[in-house]
Amino acid sequence: MAKVNIPTVKLNNGIDMPALGYGTWLGLDEKMNFISKDVPKLIDSLSYAIDVGYRHIDTAHVYRVEPEIGAVINKKIKEGVVTREDMFVVTKVWQHCHRKADVEASVRGSLRRLNLDYVDLVLMHWPMSISVNGVDEKIDYLETWSGFEAVLEKGLVKSIGVSNFNIDQLKRLLANCKVPPVCLQVEINVNLMQKELVALCNANNIAVVAYSPFGTMVPGKNYPQSPEPKLNNVNMMEIAKKHNKTVTQVVLRYLYQNDIVSLPKTITKTRVLENASIFDFNLDEKDMKTIAEFDNGFRAVCPVFFQDFQNYPFDKIPNFSMPLPQGMLKWKNGANENID
Ligand code: NDP
Repeated sequence: MAKVNIPTVKLNNGIDMPALGYGTWLGLDEKMNFISKDVPKLIDSLSYAIDVGYRHIDTAHVYRVEPEIGAVINKKIKEGVVTREDMFVVTKVWQHCHRKADVEASVRGSLRRLNLDYVDLVLMHWPMSISVNGVDEKIDYLETWSGFEAVLEKGLVKSIGVSNFNIDQLKRLLANCKVPPVCLQVEINVNLMQKELVALCNANNIAVVAYSPFGTMVPGKNYPQSPEPKLNNVNMMEIAKKHNKTVTQVVLRYLYQNDIVSLPKTITKTRVLENASIFDFNLDEKDMKTIAEFDNGFRAVCPVFFQDFQNYPFDKIPNFSMPLPQGMLKWKNGANENID
């Protein structure tokens, strides 16, 4: 079987994080319901991903697949493919659990569903706090962060970090925390390189982790108004051809050469190997310059239904209001949706 050797980056607490991870969010359908039909393919692809060399797995309470992810990891440990220490497992605390004491309850719930003794990293998924009934609880993310420091102290997690924080929120957190976050997970792709935010992270030794690394370039995600590059973009295809790689590999390599860890999600086995096979070539200066020109600030992930909540991190669309989808309120975990 083909294998990939994924390098690591050193976090500010001395722990190594693999520079490319496996994303596990299956998304919501057009009715805003969780796409549970893809869970069996996710299980198969994740199992294959670990076989070929992926060690960093990104999940979250709200993804509803912690039981399945944990079962695959435990199976691979039992089969002797990996040890627990080889793996870097990440989960996230959802907005329903932002009170200090609720953070520990959330992490313990994740550990139970994953059937693991610890996770390598837990992230605050968003800076907003929203009750299970959709009420803005306006809990300060600094209080939530003190809950993160507590679970670290108790040894339930090896590292703590944040996701979807903007520049001001990250600065305020850094000025008021006891333990700084090891990383910031945000949307980054060739359309949205977030230079200022990345510079702030670099200056504070915070690793930058890219979600949605393909932005809107892949089929199913792009639409007529979404910006170039699409997969058939002539400039991107030329670079890919020069290196005997695919356009998606060029994109992931571009992020890597910008010191950004990426989390491509795929439930297609051939793409599992393709996405991780980016550590055997180098984009040259001209390639890097060509790709940099696509950075136009376009955001692929725009959860406008959150925009009226305190601490929403992105620019708001004026005079726009949308109710919170049911799928973002109470939910159940597991393929059969039978776990809390
Ligand atoms: P991605 O940029 O990873 O895109 C996923 C899409 O790309 C899927 O449609 C997939 O199709 C397709 N794809 C993957 N590889 C290839 C390839 N080589 N060629 C062509 N198409 C490909 O987006 P995500 O939004 O899923 O982000 C990745 C991960 O980041 C998530 O799974 C999650 O773990 C994390 N995330 C975190 C967020 C946060 O708030 N912290 C928000 C969003 C994501 P297919 O699966 O059918 O192969």
